[in-house]
Amino acid sequence: MAQVHLRNVVKKYGVLEVVHAINLDIADSEFVVLVGPSGCGKSTTLRMVAGLEAISGGEVHIGGRVVNDLPPRERNISMVFQNYALYPHMSVRENLGFSLKISKRSQADIDKAVDEAAEILSLTPLLDRKPGALSGGQRQRVAMGRAIVRHPEVFLFDEPLSNLDAKLRTQMRVEIKKLHQKLKSTIIYVTHDQVEAMTLADRIVIMRDGHIEQIGTPLDVFENPVNTFVATFIGSPP
Ligand code: ADP
Ligand code: MG
Repeated sequence: MAQVHLRNVVKKYGVLEVVHAINLDIADSEFVVLVGPSGCGKSTTLRMVAGLEAISGGEVHIGGRVVNDLPPRERNISMVFQNYALYPHMSVRENLGFSLKISKRSQADIDKAVDEAAEILSLTPLLDRKPGALSGGQRQRVAMGRAIVRHPEVFLFDEPLSNLDAKLRTQMRVEIKKLHQKLKSTIIYVTHDQVEAMTLADRIVIMRDGHIEQIGTPLDVFENPVNTFVATFIGSPP
């Protein structure tokens, strides 16, 4: 599994700089959560790691390679978005295998990867259903399954639970944590929800206005916030 390093990574949209030279080192198998108020640059940062946004300065390293000039499919990452769209006319099995199919993998390979992902996410009994016959949580698990069939080194999640109701969100948090423990993958997870961040993360990265305010374990940040912004955001006692 890969280490991810951001070295002075900058993003500008025209003259507007929205990410200011951030540095972040993520270890193998680490679960890191980027958290902060809306508009602080979390998604932009994640999309630069994914290769979905060009970076305006600095370097992104994944697994020891500088990936600045590599397209997303060559970065060994899989991304799960908030607005996951499953193909409604395809079965769960076909949805899970689709990205492998378009990469021209053999049917035997596809079946093996799909069965494995289905097993991990408890989707095996649902493989022949269409998305319309699934609950919200089951659909979300299929979206995660589509990411894991590719055996990426790094998983990127952008607010994957924000469309779910509170009960399902809590359930899915547990699922995601289990997934991490099983796969031992490196995860970068974006949320604006402090509770989600505190419960999921090995380390949290608190962002504000395009820079990083603090990086630490949830307990560390809770007990030793570096400033009142962090304290207020995390809800540390005064
Ligand atoms: P977050 O995910 O933390 O809510 P974003 O990374 O989406 O924040 O956005 C960071 C900043 O960049 C915001 O001010 C946003 O308006 C701006 N931004 C995002 N995408 C674009 C774009 N395509 N063009 C111009 N500004 C953008
Ligand atoms: Mg966002």
